[in-house]
Amino acid sequence: MVPGARLIVLGKQGAGKGTQCVRLSHHYVVPHVSTGDMLRAAVKQGTAMGLKAKDQMDRGELLGDDLIMGMVASRLDESDVRARGFVLDGCPRTVAQAEQLAVFLNPVELDMAVDIEVPTAQVLRRLAARRVCVDCGANYSVSSPPLINWTCDVCGGEVIQREDDREEAITRRLELYERQTAPLIDWYRARGQLAAVSGTGAPDSVTRRVIKAIEVRRDRKGGRLT
Ligand code: AMP
Repeated sequence: MVPGARLIVLGKQGAGKGTQCVRLSHHYVVPHVSTGDMLRAAVKQGTAMGLKAKDQMDRGELLGDDLIMGMVASRLDESDVRARGFVLDGCPRTVAQAEQLAVFLNPVELDMAVDIEVPTAQVLRRLAARRVCVDCGANYSVSSPPLINWTCDVCGGEVIQREDDREEAITRRLELYERQTAPLIDWYRARGQLAAVSGTGAPDSVTRRVIKAIEVRRDRKGGRLT
């Protein structure tokens, strides 16, 4: 049986976290838990939390740690996650969130925090060109659009530019990343849980690098991640 995993994936917006998280979730057969996707679903459903979150999300601001960690804690408490683990995407984004996550997981440890490294100039180009399906979240770009007129190849939904992929919001999100999220790299490194992997090149090569980094750690820990 494929062993499960408890992974978090760090990286600037546009580093390809979402794509790699989907692949890791298939590889290790664990749920992909994306706070951004959960919040966008809440906005779409018009829930109280969604209505509260929308404006801040559109501007590229971070939502409060308590709101985020409450949402994440209840997802991580579900049976699929408890049984096999998770790939956590978009969280933690602050040291306070990482501390709360460690408390929540205790006594079980995270297997690894993977940092996908991509130069800022490259993520800026990727974000400006990124287009997403409003229904299933599939990713496209202006240079690699869906086959038919901005209609999603996967589900037929409308493919658009995310409000927070516009220039002002991108600048703000990258600023917040440097200030609030980048310190997590040293935080996880100090705990011996960090694997830094280059995120440049084709998505398949990045996936191979990430899985190799995870397997090396798995071998060091005696064969199992969970
Ligand atoms: P993402 O798709 O991960 O870029 O998330 C989209 C937006 O959701 C972010 O720009 C934030 O407004 C909000 N968000 C997602 N995850 C978090 C988090 N861990 N902490 C605070 N805000 C978050």
